[in-house]
Amino acid sequence: MSSYKINAIVLGGTNVKEKDRLLRVFSLEQGKLTLSLKGVRQEKSKLKIAKEIFCFGQFICEKGREIDIVTGFDVIDNFSGLTKDIEKYYEGCAILDLLNAVASGANPPLFIEVISALKTLCYENLPKYYIIDKFLLSLIDALGYNFLTEYCSSCQARLTKRYLNLDIGEIVCPSCRNQNCVAISEACYSAMKLLSSSSYEKLSTIKLGGDGEKEAYNILSKDFYYRTGHQVLSII
Ligand SMILES: [Zn+2]
Repeated sequence: MSSYKINAIVLGGTNVKEKDRLLRVFSLEQGKLTLSLKGVRQEKSKLKIAKEIFCFGQFICEKGREIDIVTGFDVIDNFSGLTKDIEKYYEGCAILDLLNAVASGANPPLFIEVISALKTLCYENLPKYYIIDKFLLSLIDALGYNFLTEYCSSCQARLTKRYLNLDIGEIVCPSCRNQNCVAISEACYSAMKLLSSSSYEKLSTIKLGGDGEKEAYNILSKDFYYRTGHQVLSII
C-alpha cells in the first residue's frame, strides 16, 4: 500500500462507527482532505492528539479505497492556548470556518497565513478582532476586491467619505452610493489599512482607536457573506 506525508491543520471532524473519526484537514501539499482516524476514540490510541480542532502537524497516511487512513502523526503545535480562552477559541474557530469555506486545492500562501494567524492568536494577547479582521481582509483581497483604495470605484473621485457597495463589493463615494451601501467610518478605514499592512508578527505594535476594528469585523463579515454566501461565525 502506498503511503505519503502531509503537513496539515485539523479543521474538524465527525465521529463514525464505535471508535473511529473522520477528520477534515487543510494540508500544505494537497489542500482540503478528509482522512480516517481508526480507533482514535480509545484511551490508548497514539493518534489521539490528532483528532482535535487546531491540531497542526505532520500526518503519515496510507491510500484507502475511498478515504485515506492516518497511520502516524507528529504534532508541531496543537495551539492548546486557544482552547483555554473562550474569546480566542471563538476567534480561532471563526478563522478555521472561513478557511474551510474558501479552501479547496493546495494553496501554500493560504496555509502559511492561517498558521501565522493561529500562532499570533494563541501566543500574543491582541485585542479582539485584530486577527480575524486581518484574515478577512486577506481573503476578500484574494477574491479580487480592493477595500483599501483611495478612489471611488464608479467615478474615480478621490474618496473623503467611503461606502461599501454590497452589490458589487467595491468602495464608492457619497455621490455614487445607493441604498445597498454601508458607510465606513474613518476609524474603521484606518483600522483596516493598518491591520492589512502589518504582518501577523507585528500586529502587537498596532494601537487602534474608536472601535474601528469592531466596525471592520461587522463590515467585512457582511461583505464576505455577500461575496460568497457564507455567514462568518459570530465571535461576540
Ligand atoms: Zn463616485
